[in-house]
Amino acid sequence: MKTIYFDNNATTKVAEEVAEEMKPFFCELYGNPSSMHTFGGQIAAKIRKSRKQVANLLGCDPAEIIFTSGGTESDNAAINGTLAAAPDKRKIITSRVEHPAVLSVCRELESCGYTVIELGVDKQGRLVRDKLEEQIDDDTTLVTIMYANNETGVVFPIEQIAELVKSKGSVFHTDAVQAVGKIPLNLAKSNIDLLSLSGHKLHAPKGVGVLYVRKGTRLSPFMLGGHQEKGRRAGTENVPGIVGLGKACELAAKNIKEENERVRKLRNKLENAILKNCPDSMLNGDKDNRLPNTSNISFEYIEGESILLMLDKYGICASSGSACASGSLEPSHVLRAMGVPFTAAHGSIRFSLSRYNTEQEVDYTIEKLPPIINRLRELSPFVAK
Ligand code: PLP
Repeated sequence: MKTIYFDNNATTKVAEEVAEEMKPFFCELYGNPSSMHTFGGQIAAKIRKSRKQVANLLGCDPAEIIFTSGGTESDNAAINGTLAAAPDKRKIITSRVEHPAVLSVCRELESCGYTVIELGVDKQGRLVRDKLEEQIDDDTTLVTIMYANNETGVVFPIEQIAELVKSKGSVFHTDAVQAVGKIPLNLAKSNIDLLSLSGHKLHAPKGVGVLYVRKGTRLSPFMLGGHQEKGRRAGTENVPGIVGLGKACELAAKNIKEENERVRKLRNKLENAILKNCPDSMLNGDKDNRLPNTSNISFEYIEGESILLMLDKYGICASSGSACASGSLEPSHVLRAMGVPFTAAHGSIRFSLSRYNTEQEVDYTIEKLPPIINRLRELSPFVAK
């Protein structure tokens, strides 16, 4: 059975070109980039090239790129490294809908005595910004707000937020793990100080990412040891991963507008057909300010997990809004923050597309999904018979 993969916000396929580029760095070009010999030196040159490829996609200077093990490390490093560099300040501002890679760090810091303010969102998942300005004070070290939400795809007005934070003298970090490669960025023209990205969300392998650090931003080293990454992130580099990430960024930079327009059309076709053909279904998130690839839809009165299992029988992969990975069937913290009714939050499904999806896959899903929803509703104790 063919796999139809609509779970690209969870992870993406490694692009063939990326895998090809990485191959020599396992068995042929395996030197250590820190070595003095030519064999190792050529690897250092390849890392320099990757750094440029990433910088080109982000519109920044290659010296502002630190390679990490992924989005989680970059988020942790941005928050902890900023606080460590300003030990006299004790306040952090974030949002209630951040990924756990940010939210758990902030909540841990709160338990250690920091003041943490979590800004809310409205019914459409848009950040409620009025409190931000009044909350930023002299004690605020860091404001960390995601660029785009991984569950709903809602994109926040990050450039305006960054400008406001800068005018108040605090550091601004954004978790752009879901945005990079899907939205054109130009950090040279922005006030973002720190930005996290993750390779496996943009067709590079898992276990590699980047923390962008604007020149002049104070950040304590977050991994101590050797002198790699200018002493800020020690540890022998994940060379194949870094090479792959460089190539993936080059590919993303080349076609970002055209690819995303194609993906947006496919997503819209899928979404419109589902909303039309499945009664009591509704879209979660701001329709107009969204990633082009994401659609989060609630189906009233039924469980997201049951829908996923039935889709899985047809080889269709999506994900549900429940935190099932943690073994709990609690609705997602994002949908709860949006005030999505309990009955709808439980039956939410996220479809996230990529440039590898086709119109046939969308058509196939449009055909298979409505009967699944009808069947589950017939079995549901919540539907009035
Ligand atoms: N931030 C966001 C918004 C994400 O969606 C994810 C992954 O799902 C992460 C951070 C974590 O990235 P990684 O899996 O590379 O650690």
